[in-house]
Amino acid sequence: MSTLFIADTHLGGEHPAISRRFVEFIDNEAPTAEALYILGDLFEVWIGDDAVQDEHRAALQALRRLSDTGVPTYLLHGNRDFLLGQGFEALTGCQLIQEPVVIDLYGTRTLLLHGDTLCSDDVDYQKMRSQLRNPAWQQQFLSASIEQRLAIANQYRSESRSRIREKPDAIMDVNRDTVIETMRAHGVTRLIHGHTHRPAVHDLEIDGQPAQRIVLGDWYSQNSSLKCDASGCYLNHSNED
Ligand code: MN
Repeated sequence: MSTLFIADTHLGGEHPAISRRFVEFIDNEAPTAEALYILGDLFEVWIGDDAVQDEHRAALQALRRLSDTGVPTYLLHGNRDFLLGQGFEALTGCQLIQEPVVIDLYGTRTLLLHGDTLCSDDVDYQKMRSQLRNPAWQQQFLSASIEQRLAIANQYRSESRSRIREKPDAIMDVNRDTVIETMRAHGVTRLIHGHTHRPAVHDLEIDGQPAQRIVLGDWYSQNSSLKCDASGCYLNHSNED
């Protein structure tokens, strides 16, 4: 048996081909696993469980089918879909898990994160993150009309695009010391995350112990997924279309 991991599918109306590939993956590949973990940014934008957009329906229905076949699907929030809540769980049968999460993955303690908290050099981003994760801000946002919420979300997205263009590449990757400190604090030798869209398996050493940081890629072009079983973890990515 195996466990599957994906992240950063960024499903939304702008890339219908990604949604089709996602539905294929959920219908064909995911049912062979004993569990599926989605490590954040499943959706490009999620403005609240009460405001499901038509472009999300096929993916939500696919997740429901997977849950109905008995494959547990766990999902942690990314920086795009941090408002996924109980309504989403009820609709899909997925279980939201709050990062940091440590699981026993075939005998190896493994830390799961979206990955944005590791990008500690990006001070602006971390400031914005604490605002967006503030319960008072979220409550106020959710009390706005759907049209207002969409407008605010689009504004955030265009601001974040222009900020990203101005930033050097290294700032938007993880900070090595933050990775080591985080893994040490959780007593793990394996970390799996997404967010940076830089798929790779990094071998590390922490306090003399071999350790591994596995980074999932995105689905814009990488179709990234990770399959782990008792023999190890295998990162797959292909560059289709
Ligand atoms: Mn992200």
